[in-house]
Amino acid sequence: MFHVEHLRKLVKNEIFDIAVIGGGHAGVEAVNISTQFDLKVLLVTSPDTDIASAPCNPAVGGVGKGQVVRELDSLGGLMGQLADLAGIQFRTLNESKGFAVQSTRVQIDKEAYSFFATEFLKLKTNLHIARERVVSIAKEDDRFLITTELENVFVAKKVVLTTGTFLNGKLHTGEIQTDGGRVDSKKSVSLMNLIGDAKLFGGRFKTGTPARLEKATIDYSKMVEQESDPETRNFSLINPPWSRNLKQVSCFLTRTNSNTLSIIRKNKERSPIFNGQISGVGPRYCPSIEDKAFRYTEKDEHHVFVEPEGLNLNTIYPNGVSTSLPRDVQEDFLRTIDGLENCKIAIYGYAVEYDVVDTSKLNKTLESMDIQGLYFAGQLCGTSGYEEAAGQGFVAGVNAALSVLGRNPLILSRDESYIGVMIDDLVSVKRDEPYRLFTARSENRLGIREDNTFKRIAPYRQNLDLNCEIDKHLDSILTEADVLTSLLSEKIYYAHIDRSDFEEKGYGSLDTNITLSELLRRPALNPVKVLESELLEFGLTFNYDVIRFVAIENKYSGYIVRSNNEITKLNKLTNKKLDPNELLNSSNISFECKQRIRRTLPQTFGQLQKIEGIRPATLAYVAGNLL
Ligand SMILES: Cc1cc2nc3c(=O)[nH]c(=O)nc-3n(C[C@H](O)[C@H](O)[C@H](O)COP(=O)(O)OP(=O)(O)OC[C@H]3O[C@@H](n4cnc5c(N)ncnc54)[C@H](O)[C@@H]3O)c2cc1C
Repeated sequence: MFHVEHLRKLVKNEIFDIAVIGGGHAGVEAVNISTQFDLKVLLVTSPDTDIASAPCNPAVGGVGKGQVVRELDSLGGLMGQLADLAGIQFRTLNESKGFAVQSTRVQIDKEAYSFFATEFLKLKTNLHIARERVVSIAKEDDRFLITTELENVFVAKKVVLTTGTFLNGKLHTGEIQTDGGRVDSKKSVSLMNLIGDAKLFGGRFKTGTPARLEKATIDYSKMVEQESDPETRNFSLINPPWSRNLKQVSCFLTRTNSNTLSIIRKNKERSPIFNGQISGVGPRYCPSIEDKAFRYTEKDEHHVFVEPEGLNLNTIYPNGVSTSLPRDVQEDFLRTIDGLENCKIAIYGYAVEYDVVDTSKLNKTLESMDIQGLYFAGQLCGTSGYEEAAGQGFVAGVNAALSVLGRNPLILSRDESYIGVMIDDLVSVKRDEPYRLFTARSENRLGIREDNTFKRIAPYRQNLDLNCEIDKHLDSILTEADVLTSLLSEKIYYAHIDRSDFEEKGYGSLDTNITLSELLRRPALNPVKVLESELLEFGLTFNYDVIRFVAIENKYSGYIVRSNNEITKLNKLTNKKLDPNELLNSSNISFECKQRIRRTLPQTFGQLQKIEGIRPATLAYVAGNLL
């Protein structure tokens, strides 16, 4: 650690309102939102990593995550716009399931994504970018002194730390261990050395990535093609729904087999995850292929999605076979997979271990409870994924800005947003494994869908009182939504007037007068398609996002009321106090659940609920005792 006296000699004259450290997905969102206020912002990011680069799967969105990207867009965030610009394959996931769990996923050209992010930041006139590695952050009075490897010292009123997997990062491929934040990027100092506060240390987590394969060595004829879906809506409201900026390409599906898994199982002793070499805790919901091999011993077939990394890159990303096995084992098992028999590896798969922050020591603005003015966001907070990182980056960045301006914080509620769910989960209890968002984490899946994002998020954005392009889009879309919603109850179809086309169109019979709203709720009908077609019949034009939202909201209205009642009941239970020692002594709670309870000692039912891996049976038992 540097002494403040020594630092004072090196200090740059300028005082920044906010310094964001790390230009990954969290950092970019923190910078993007904080520069929308009239503030001086600094981004300090390592010279050897591209801005907003994608070290793992080249895709944005997915189940639960697509919702976050749309929430960010309505909040004035950047990720949606970047994904639209860099998207090379668009898909709607869970299309066959209900609207509540449908999510958008966009395969990105990772070079283009990073390029567009950098260009967006270059347009910010109140942003200074320093390509340097930070080695220490010290607080002096109400300011932070940020020292870099080059011995430059920057001064800022608030700091947002978003250093990803880099703090004391260690990479593993079989027996080979190297220091690094990711492949080809140097590690950073440890969390303790960076901020000099051991209390914030939350442990060591681990994540991994598969090998990258040379495109020309893949035999696609043995795989199932998945084309880009022209009907998937862009993420950003700013963009026309179905415009595409880059050429669209396909992804391909293949699978592992018994040979693949038997090679992996035979090499258990050489796996850093199983031979004790890696101590960091890995992501439960994004397991490596060796995790799958030993967790699901009866299963040999696992999907492998063969995804392009970019239009001009000659590598593909085999999604589903993340690994840290030795190089020779990686070659052997990959070549057992249909279509990969002759594949050549461009970069070997690896795992990375890194320091994380104890997020239970942060408040809901992601500011440290102990060190005022210091905010944290991204993988450093123990999450996994670009979208989770971006969502936190926004929350930390906007609250740092509001705090500089002496304004009230922005806290997204968990009932109204997935970002709110994530932040609430993160700060409520110490996480003991990497956290990933999915729709089941929300108690209110019906209420926080992709299609209604603008409606539920717009009030938060409007409170910021900013005037950017998104604000104009939100104003006009909200007005249109109100008009269309009232039309639904006002438009009546009269039974005595002949609408023979009703049956022809598959709408069913018209025996009694019904409103348009009632028609759209008929069980077998797709409300969006019917509303689109009826509006066309009336000669009315509405924004596609408005039609989709109004039709789906109307369809679910009855369920939404019921679900809100359930949530009210649940919220009452959530705040009920409990004694963790009683739980530890109970004979009705499993040993595994007790281990998890012992690590975090929950004080309320809500905290117990948020512990990863707590069984529904345990929750039901405790809830039964509390009611
Ligand atoms: C090997 C690997 C595998 C992964 N696997 C998955 C996966 O399977 N699924 C998934 O969803 N996500 C995965 N991820 C995580 C994904 O990369 C992150 O979720 C996402 O990039 C996190 O964004 P972030 O902004 O928090 O950090 P990053 O994107 O890592 O950005 C951190 C930034 O901070 C900079 N930085 C670090 N230290 C300093 C410093 N001291 N001074 C200045 N700048 C600094 C870095 O250069 C970088 O630009 C993986 C990441 C890696 C590396």
